[in-house]
Amino acid sequence: MARSTFFQSVSRYFEKAAPHTKVSPGLLEQVKTCNSVYRMRFPVREDDGRINVVEAFRAEHSFHRLPTKGGIRFSQRVNLDETIALAALMSYKCSIVGVPFGGAKGGIILDPAKLSEGFRERVTRRYTAELIRKNFIGPDIDVPAPDYGTGEREMGWIADTYKNLKMNEPHPYACVTGKPLSMQGIPGRKQATGLGVYYGIRAFADQTETMKKLGLKPGTAGKRIIIQGLGNVGYHAGHFLQQDGKAVIVGIIEREGALYAPDGMDVEAAAKFRAETGSLAGFPDATFREDGMAVMEEDCDILIPAALEDQITAENAPCIKAKIVAEAANGPVHHEAETILQEKGIHILPDVFLNAGGVTISYFEWIKNKAGISFDRIISRHEELNKIRMVEAMESLTGREIPASIRKPLVARSNEEEMVLSALDQTMIRAFDDIHETQRERKLPSQRAAAFVLAIERISDSYQNHGIFP
Ligand code: GLU
Repeated sequence: MARSTFFQSVSRYFEKAAPHTKVSPGLLEQVKTCNSVYRMRFPVREDDGRINVVEAFRAEHSFHRLPTKGGIRFSQRVNLDETIALAALMSYKCSIVGVPFGGAKGGIILDPAKLSEGFRERVTRRYTAELIRKNFIGPDIDVPAPDYGTGEREMGWIADTYKNLKMNEPHPYACVTGKPLSMQGIPGRKQATGLGVYYGIRAFADQTETMKKLGLKPGTAGKRIIIQGLGNVGYHAGHFLQQDGKAVIVGIIEREGALYAPDGMDVEAAAKFRAETGSLAGFPDATFREDGMAVMEEDCDILIPAALEDQITAENAPCIKAKIVAEAANGPVHHEAETILQEKGIHILPDVFLNAGGVTISYFEWIKNKAGISFDRIISRHEELNKIRMVEAMESLTGREIPASIRKPLVARSNEEEMVLSALDQTMIRAFDDIHETQRERKLPSQRAAAFVLAIERISDSYQNHGIFP
């Protein structure tokens, strides 16, 4: 029997959670279904002058909140079902972290590894023009962002195309997030998803009882980690787990193969080596294996799939040895595999919570663009003066001068990146607590079920009472 599609898998997760909600069947159907899809084909010239007809999609899953929001991916496996599934996950993700947007996703069928810069730019600009033609993009309509195979550069082209074709739009740069800083982007957006993954894992690992049940000591320190995918999300998750969480990276899986080092390796060094040589093969501090997927089945505490969907399926799930699977990618665990992992006692940190850091900071970028001012502009100096007053009061009360080495960090001006990242930290902790509470109150079998219950009820509430913040 053929494996169910990605959207069927997401719908299965939805259906498992739905009976635990208080939502009527009709409204459940509205929350589950994808509201609009635009499938397009357009010609783009290759560098040698040939015409290439490119196929692309944009799906807007839910209009309970506007704009809709979600990334654009460049990948050869992009298809309509995948785009809809990813758009649906965006709706749930946004409501779980209190981002007041509906979900959307876009995809262009292209191999990101084989594109010249010129062709990339022409495709991105034409795709944007197509979205404008059908009203599928705009600060209050639908706001794209980076995803697999895209980044700041593409978002910059989108913003520029939109700005030039929509001359009367008051805040044109709010039409897309994940832009370069020089084009009204926000500091922290690049590392946001990976850092959010770290904050999410940290929140879970701090739960003494749950960790004990898994046979693990609380905290991230010393935890042995395998990461699949060294892209923006996987790299930053590994970086923060290693640097701040004191975790040990034992495996890194990429397209060309995988590295495994039972005593750990430096994720920075591995990423640098790959950037310089184009491959993980030959990295001196670990064993390279051509069959990268086999490393998913190696011994570790936390397995972090951070690449694409359907990486853990009914076929390889029985061989997974990790105690925790942390879904940094969207949909990496197929619903049939979830049952197998649960039977093995493996804990899953679900994507709709764990990788929501990206869209959280995208939300801040969108607010900044709409407001036309950065977050630190008004309060930065004011805060600094308040801190100086406080330090001076302490000095006059104690009669002792605070040494410069202590004084300097105490009175430092807050900067936009720090503000944004601390808001991300708080968002992830709050979302984790909400999911935890829902799971406890409703006696749900998994964090994913609890996250879906929370999302379904918040989205239904918005539909019913339009205007209530999720
Ligand atoms: N593509 C990212 C995701 O899947 C980010 C979306 C956004 O920032 O809008 O969550």
